[in-house]
Amino acid sequence: MRTDATRRVLRALLTLLTFGTGLAPIGPAHAWSTDGHMVLTEAAVLATPASLPSFFRSGAKAIARDSRDPDFAKNRSLPALRNGEGPEHFLDLELLKGRSLPATRYGFIHQCARAKLDPDRVGLLPYALAEATERLALAFAESRQRPEDTHVQAKCRYLAGQVAHYAQDLCQPLHTTVHHDGKVRPDGSSPRTGIHSRIDDLITALRVEPSALAARQQVAPVESLMPAILSELKRSNALVTRVYMLEPKLRVKGARGLAPEVSDFAQERARASVRFTASLYATAWKLSGTLQLPKAAAE
Ligand SMILES: [Zn+2]
Repeated sequence: MRTDATRRVLRALLTLLTFGTGLAPIGPAHAWSTDGHMVLTEAAVLATPASLPSFFRSGAKAIARDSRDPDFAKNRSLPALRNGEGPEHFLDLELLKGRSLPATRYGFIHQCARAKLDPDRVGLLPYALAEATERLALAFAESRQRPEDTHVQAKCRYLAGQVAHYAQDLCQPLHTTVHHDGKVRPDGSSPRTGIHSRIDDLITALRVEPSALAARQQVAPVESLMPAILSELKRSNALVTRVYMLEPKLRVKGARGLAPEVSDFAQERARASVRFTASLYATAWKLSGTLQLPKAAAE
């Protein structure tokens, strides 16, 4: 059994090691731990309808591995990439003060300019997710033309990892709020209380098998992509109050594990993440059946 103090020392050591080698950043928008993303993604692929191609449904482990990449892209030694990637992982809904979100990235950037908001401070997560889902639809369309092409299959699996990451970040309530790491101070700064990483760790703390998370899920393509993403974002943001009510009970107490209320919350978010990710896979597959590809894509 590890004490909290030991865990803190180990975490500090790990941070030091990863910064020292330039391998991975640890930041407030890290999202479900990388292991958490892998569990949720494997479960999401297992939960997809049988209508999706078998190369995809049998590739759950590879897709799960690729779901970590968007966090790796926030590497502090790669400043151009980190700058572009960081805001793709969150959207602080309160900063929009009730304004509705435009359908496209540049529509949103123009709206931010009119409202004198910095888009990279508000965050761009819904757009990263919609674009990733449409990229997957494009790759699926290619796979419909050349079902035996293993290069196209690998491309689909890689892009599915990106969809999974952003979909699951969106289901972590602290990725949708100014209160992303403690209640925001009057000057707008974050107190960085560490609650964000304690929530991130909950999926792995559940110790649940992907097959269990995939069971009894209702998965179907969404009617319209961006409205579905925005509805899910609002559902996630509505849980911010509950997250802070759970705060005193968040610490994992050795072998006793999670407090029941915390476990219920983590289960609900894990299942929502899996259902949402799988429904976006089903959406991309359905959309791919309607796409016209340029002639060159068939060669
Ligand atoms: Zn992330």
